Amino acid sequence: MPPVQRTPLIAGNWKMNLDCAGAVALARDVARHAAGARVDVAVFPAFVHLDAVQRALRADGLALTVGAQDCSDAPNGALTGEVSLAMLQDLGCNWVLTGHSERRHVIGESDDVVAAKTAAALRASFTCVLCIGEKLEQRERGETDTVNERQLRAALKGLDAQACTNLVIAYEPVWAIGTGRVASAADAQAAHHAARRVLSDILGRETAARTRILYGGSLKASNAGELLAMADVDGGLVGGASLEAGGFGAIIDAAAGLAHSA
Ligand code: PEP
Repeated sequence: MPPVQRTPLIAGNWKMNLDCAGAVALARDVARHAAGARVDVAVFPAFVHLDAVQRALRADGLALTVGAQDCSDAPNGALTGEVSLAMLQDLGCNWVLTGHSERRHVIGESDDVVAAKTAAALRASFTCVLCIGEKLEQRERGETDTVNERQLRAALKGLDAQACTNLVIAYEPVWAIGTGRVASAADAQAAHHAARRVLSDILGRETAARTRILYGGSLKASNAGELLAMADVDGGLVGGASLEAGGFGAIIDAAAGLAHSA
């Protein structure tokens, strides 16, 4: 197999934060910081800010990937409050998160719902950042790799390597999200390595080698260097620390030049 280089990806999940002006200002700052960095950078604002953010970036001639935090798996219909992939495409948005732990464990999305959304997004040629990760009690029972494997197999059921060209995985231990507790670099590497082996089993060695696996969970400027240096950690999905341009910029800088190869 020819060697594969995985460009680091730093993604900011803004969740239900910021007002429209704040989202636009932050996107501009991030885009300026990301310009010329040897890192892929994406931000995920709230649905209602997607259009304004993208228009502002275009008006300023700034390039930044802007994605949605969720999507419906249905093309259209009587689904009050839902947003379809076609609606997102209509805004020029073709990146989406699926399976975020807040959607799994707060909103109550099942593995089947996550699978349907992931398949629909990939079918529509979106880059899909599929989030997986264990709860604290599962980690304490030594079930981290089992939970990740179950979530990966469920979400990718029926998909092949060709369908997963635009797949990114985010390993986000639930106990580390928004808590200030962060996985040790060694624990993150072990979980990523195990997840890549599962990907290899499902999608083949080549696809597993080129699929980026991001770490998420209280990632910030002070711990990014150590985590992102791990061989199977190909970037980060950042919540709280992505809401401030300086801190997020420092994480982008920590990832610069850390392309991993397989
Ligand atoms: C997230 O919600 O994806 C996340 C990683 O949040 P935080 O960085 O705040 O832990």
